[in-house]
Amino acid sequence: MSRVLVVEDEHHLAEGLRFNLEAEGYQVEVAETGEGALAMLSADAPGFDVVVLDVMLPGIDGFSVIAQMRQGGQFTPTLMLTARSHPDDVLRGFEAGADDYLTKPFELPILIARIRSLLRRTDWLRAQTKAAKPATQAADRFEFGEKSVEFDLLELRVRGAAFPLTLMEANLLRYLIQHEGKPVSRKAMLEDVWGLHEDTDTRAIDNFIVRLRRYIEDNPTKPCHLLTVRGVGYKFVAAPN
Ligand code: CA
Repeated sequence: MSRVLVVEDEHHLAEGLRFNLEAEGYQVEVAETGEGALAMLSADAPGFDVVVLDVMLPGIDGFSVIAQMRQGGQFTPTLMLTARSHPDDVLRGFEAGADDYLTKPFELPILIARIRSLLRRTDWLRAQTKAAKPATQAADRFEFGEKSVEFDLLELRVRGAAFPLTLMEANLLRYLIQHEGKPVSRKAMLEDVWGLHEDTDTRAIDNFIVRLRRYIEDNPTKPCHLLTVRGVGYKFVAAPN
């Protein structure tokens, strides 16, 4: 049974989510503050599979929660709930390390579909790991130059140093690698990686690219692997000339 942590201070909303998610077969815990959520996430037995995180919380807000989670090596897939009146919150959420977002007020079936989608992505990564090769080899890795991405571990390795990736960073990088050498549009990335068909602000993609470049480029201001294709989107090149 998948475990969901709902972080929401509005009591009726939190309990409504608990009721409906339990009806869908999830095991649900509620934290009413960001501090409480971080405490529950650090006491890691047993872990959560998904976090639903409201931005507006008393004490530290949702952005601080997700940033502290990621900095602390806690990479549970996280869906942020943002206010429709603050579109920039989406970008801030992604920048801080969120995997997906939903604006309030939302339709319950959409929230459930997004939670399922985050769980599927985790299962997908795990399934790739189990498509077993000999144990001495990483099951799901891609090497380029002196770097490698370990998709099963959500890690990027650069000359011996390992950098953790969020689920969405890993999924985006995998998507670009699968289209190696070909330009990919922002819209295609949003649809294929995030499953978003709505008219989402595609600047969210640019923020992810900036982050990935910081990890994989020796000089992020002069990228040689993750190239901008003007008027289209981006292109991954494994072995630049
Ligand atoms: Ca709230």
